[in-house]
Amino acid sequence: MEVTKKKIVKTIRIDVDKCNGCRACEVICSSFHATPKYSSNNPERARIRVIHYPLRDLYVPVYAGEYAAAECAGRDKYTIDGKEYDECAFCRASCPSRDVFKEPDSGLPLKCDMCESDPTLSQPMCVQWCLADALIYEEREEEVVEEETLEEIEIGLQAMAHKFGWQKLLDTAGRMAKKD
Ligand code: SF4
Ligand code: SF4
Repeated sequence: MEVTKKKIVKTIRIDVDKCNGCRACEVICSSFHATPKYSSNNPERARIRVIHYPLRDLYVPVYAGEYAAAECAGRDKYTIDGKEYDECAFCRASCPSRDVFKEPDSGLPLKCDMCESDPTLSQPMCVQWCLADALIYEEREEEVVEEETLEEIEIGLQAMAHKFGWQKLLDTAGRMAKKD
């Protein structure tokens, strides 16, 4: 069965021209996600990386995305304004081909979670700490059509069985099926 749900889509817009490479975003992200919270900071543990190209004085913040169990068969290579960038430089995946977006001690993949572990935050921590306004947080509401999963149906049935009893549910379902 299809159900329409409202969903908040969260985005962080990156204005590369405003990024000055201060790396405050990396510091606060790693500190916010430390255990206990704020007990340490190590940008190697951040879920955002600022890629630096000294020749062009360019800084590009890249957010950690999905975990990839295997390397891609191919490689991304960018040329911008005639300058060629490293292979996979702007890729967001934590994958076996490189060390970025991996927890340095355990090797476990890191992924930006929009700081959702703290619902009191009005904006993700990296956005709050970016004084250059290179990171801009935006939210929009969208209607999405989703298939109701078997699990959701089971949870609903269990709740009704708890209230009315399985026998009554089965009798009702049988009666309804005959009407169809
Ligand atoms: S905090 Fe902002 S200006 Fe500083 S490196 Fe991160 S994105 Fe760039
Ligand atoms: S949104 Fe939160 S988890 Fe994601 S990079 Fe920024 S500080 Fe880290």
